Amino acid sequence: MVWRLVVGLALTVIALAIAGRRAFEIYKLIKSGQPAHDRSEDLGRRVRTQLVEVFGQKRLLKWSVPGLAHFFTFWAFVLLLTVYIEAYGALFDPEFHIPLIGTWAPLGFLQDLIAVLCLISLGVFAIIRVRNSPEREKRDSRFYGSHTGGAWLILFMIFNVLWTLFFFRAASSALGAFPYKSGAFASIGLGNLFTGLSTPALEIVESIGLLLHIGVMLAFLVIVAYSKHLHIFTAPINVSAKRYPKALGPLPAMESNGVKIDFEDPGEDDTFGRGKIEDFTWKGMLDFATCTECGRCQSQCPAWNTGKPLSPKLVIMDLRDHLMAKAPYIIGGKAVPEEGAIDFSAGLTDDNVHRHGVPESGFERIRGSNDEQAARPLVGTAEMGGVIDPDVLWSCTTCGACVEQCPVDIEHVDHIVDMRRHQVLIESEFPNELNSLFKNLENKGNPWGQNAKERLDWTKGLDFEVPVFDGELTEDTEYLFWVGCAGAFDDGQKKTVKATAELMHRAGVKYVVLGQEETCTGDPARRSGNEFVFQMLAQQNVEVLNAVFEGREPGKRKIVTTCPHCLNTLGREYPQLDGHYEVVHHTQLLNKLVRDGKLVPVAAPDNAAPVTYHDPCYLGRHNEVYAEPRELVGAAGATLTEMPRHADRSMCCGAGGARMWMEEHLGTQRVNVNRTTEAIETLDGVGASAKGGDGSAAGGTIAVGCPFCRTMISDGLTEKQSDGLGDNVQVQDVSQMLLAAVKRGDPAANGSSNGSAPAEESEKQDAEKEPQPSDASANGSSSNGSTANGSSADSSASEERSESQS
Ligand code: SF4
Ligand code: SF4
Repeated sequence: MVWRLVVGLALTVIALAIAGRRAFEIYKLIKSGQPAHDRSEDLGRRVRTQLVEVFGQKRLLKWSVPGLAHFFTFWAFVLLLTVYIEAYGALFDPEFHIPLIGTWAPLGFLQDLIAVLCLISLGVFAIIRVRNSPEREKRDSRFYGSHTGGAWLILFMIFNVLWTLFFFRAASSALGAFPYKSGAFASIGLGNLFTGLSTPALEIVESIGLLLHIGVMLAFLVIVAYSKHLHIFTAPINVSAKRYPKALGPLPAMESNGVKIDFEDPGEDDTFGRGKIEDFTWKGMLDFATCTECGRCQSQCPAWNTGKPLSPKLVIMDLRDHLMAKAPYIIGGKAVPEEGAIDFSAGLTDDNVHRHGVPESGFERIRGSNDEQAARPLVGTAEMGGVIDPDVLWSCTTCGACVEQCPVDIEHVDHIVDMRRHQVLIESEFPNELNSLFKNLENKGNPWGQNAKERLDWTKGLDFEVPVFDGELTEDTEYLFWVGCAGAFDDGQKKTVKATAELMHRAGVKYVVLGQEETCTGDPARRSGNEFVFQMLAQQNVEVLNAVFEGREPGKRKIVTTCPHCLNTLGREYPQLDGHYEVVHHTQLLNKLVRDGKLVPVAAPDNAAPVTYHDPCYLGRHNEVYAEPRELVGAAGATLTEMPRHADRSMCCGAGGARMWMEEHLGTQRVNVNRTTEAIETLDGVGASAKGGDGSAAGGTIAVGCPFCRTMISDGLTEKQSDGLGDNVQVQDVSQMLLAAVKRGDPAANGSSNGSAPAEESEKQDAEKEPQPSDASANGSSSNGSTANGSSADSSASEERSESQS
């Protein structure tokens, strides 16, 4: 049967030529990106990641049903390669089998089994796509904005691969040329359907089945090479080149052409951030080419879920489509038109702004690979022809939910911050509210613009002395207590730092605070793209800290902080500036003290009020501290009830990425209100709103572990309480809950060991000593350094109210 050999080989050569040309173009395009460091070190770890994430499908299996369906589909691709070896062998020799294992019944069984499982998986995918169709679910669908037509085509092509597989194998079995006499249950069973056909007829049927099976695979190969299903080939490479341990936590240092930028003496040609698609690194470009459009990131994004235009999926898709459309200019040598040569606002209609039904997608504003595409700015409004709209760019809270969920390790947060960096440092284009943040950070060293001499005000009224660093660290001082700007200036957070200091004092932990020497770590500057201010603050802090710890060996340069943003910056970003410290969150230290028996909490005898814990993004997802705060809630005698979105799927409070300092004027709901509603509903679900004999609700506590979460959730609670919800619910840092529990067991503090409510007493004292929230603060402005969010240095308004209600 020479004819089938000729047809089979001819089809193969044509398809490989078309797909190969595309593969080479994509290789050249991705290679044109800027250098990316640390993407090949620690090969052993990368091989392990490949085994776990690609072959084990670990990330996909986080979503059990679609994860399992993808698991079977992936393994079908792997195992059915053996069937294609057999198919190509059969072109040359109709009775071909793979040497050694090719007639082994378990192999035949495995091939049929995985093909059947893959068929079932296709059904599952189809049901998922119909149930989550963007036409039905609109923005609630994770496929909103994805190329759904292309996805259906791929499912159809996989189906074609499978039915042609069974057709070819069944005919081969009927013909007696099949390598497996048993095991391949489906193929052999289906072969019985051909009973009665003559041998010449069977030979023709088998040849048709064989060529169809090969032809479908080749057509599939070409479609994949030219579609978003390119991820089949790029995903394993992208996963291998991932940032370790993951693309969260520290932001990478700013580099230009692979070299770290010296902010004191930057090079003339240095590229600051990403101002055009060519500025991304090859890893960034590989990210874009790898997006599967699965929408897992979009479904978790707090901005998207509150009606903002930002979808991390659409950001990556827009960057990919723009990169591909601009390819002839990047690698093909076509000349890019001069800046300003094209008037993007001419002919702008609602149609070309909102084409594709996705107004959030900036790429859709200009289609095709043309001069307009080449000249459009990376970030810009519809009038400017921007690929990414500024409203999209500035909606991100850098919460990391997208990175955490992405099955192919795409680094959304890095890309978003890189684009912000260019907007701030080169274009000077950023939300107005950030002006005062930057000015306060530069001039006063804190976001509120408060005076450094007030940094120790939080210690007033404490009945023990808070040791302040006096130029020398004594041998027995174990920790530097980094108070943070919020701890020093925000009335709500002052309660957290007071409780933490008191607990350390009670446990006999030797610590010092820096007082006036402390300045902002620079986290809000860095996440809003102002790397210049970040570098300035970070250098100053590193100088101070290195002087404090001078002479101390690594491992003994310990810092404790109540702020997860400080934790992240001090511990994981300062090494970029040669500042190396062991930084722990206060919940980690307090948990250790409880475990070591240095703090002995006692549960309240009548403690029935429920507690739920809100994971701060920079403690949880960014730094993977999930257990300690929860253990402390338990140690304080409370029973924790989890919100539906918790731990690595926790919903952001809305303050990260410097969003704390920006107005939230877009969307259908504020992020903090969305999260607080979830917390209240969770508490209500376990009796928080149940009325007692006196008609008041039992109440509950939203436990937090971050100053910004505290402010945002407190503000959200104030809003909900004004709507009559969350009556008697309070917001407390975990340290406050622990302190109350420790005081219950302390006769000296209590007057008795059964503990009525010393913490509440102390809170009342706090309220008396601290300035009361002004009406102005509740209205979003305050004379005491308000934030754009309506939160302020007096942000404890709702806490005071709700705590005093309880
Ligand atoms: S980091 Fe958070 S807010 Fe930003 S795109 Fe990702 S999920 Fe959305
Ligand atoms: S970025 Fe990742 S999670 Fe988001 S759609 Fe693409 S592949 Fe899916």
